[in-house]
Amino acid sequence: MSETVIETVQLKKTYPGKVATPVLFGIDMQVAAGEFVAIIGQSGSGKSTLLNILGALDVPSEGLVKINGVDISTLTDDGLAVLRSQVVGFVFQAHFLLEELTCLENALLPISIRSGSATTAQTAWIGDLLHRVGLGEQLHKYPDTMSGGQNQRCAVVRALANQPKVVLADEPTGNLDSRSGEDVFRLMREMSAEIGVAFVMVTHDERLAGQADRTLLIEDGLMRQVGKRAGVAGAGQTGTDIYFPAQIAGK
Ligand code: ADP
Ligand code: MG
Repeated sequence: MSETVIETVQLKKTYPGKVATPVLFGIDMQVAAGEFVAIIGQSGSGKSTLLNILGALDVPSEGLVKINGVDISTLTDDGLAVLRSQVVGFVFQAHFLLEELTCLENALLPISIRSGSATTAQTAWIGDLLHRVGLGEQLHKYPDTMSGGQNQRCAVVRALANQPKVVLADEPTGNLDSRSGEDVFRLMREMSAEIGVAFVMVTHDERLAGQADRTLLIEDGLMRQVGKRAGVAGAGQTGTDIYFPAQIAGK
């Protein structure tokens, strides 16, 4: 059995306020190491709310959240900071690269923040990843001289810099045309397989969701599985795309 990197038990979220907004009514989900999971659901269904809670950017109203085997409600502020910077990587709809840093410097930033500066080996590794995602010519360019798709590919490499267990991606292709969106998606799939990092990707694009190992739908505050690719462990719907065994191999 492969290791579980995300587990929630009866996770509930209600935003307090004059009129409380109940959003999540009891989410039970598990993501295995290296797995690629897509989350779909209508606008306002609670996808970002869930991702923010999984990344410890927000807290649940009730229920258990375990990331990499640890109940995150037991973590101190320092423990939470480590979780957010080293265990989890984030990709948002906007790339949030720093305009005053080059592509390479942006991708290295999580390492620089963690260790003061990147080693030669770390710089070489990140440089290699950037080459492999088609940014070999862009290493020393600034974000405002790169395309939206190039910036987002750089943001994906940045999310991987500290070799997290899981990358949480909230509509990472939402600002891109379909071709660039597919490039970014393919890159995430390849990195997931190669580095053994799990991805949880929120998307509106059902075609991309259909290429994930599993697709989970949030509806009426609850979650259910609506798709599964051929060859992925367990019963369920089968997909028609090529199956990459490394993607679900436990690491
Ligand atoms: P999605 O990402 O699926 O579009 P969200 O998780 O952003 O949905 O929002 C789910 C619901 O929670 C929406 O009704 C939204 O208005 C509400 N909501 C989101 N964030 C807050 C907040 N900080 N305070 C109050 N309500 C919120
Ligand atoms: Mg959202």
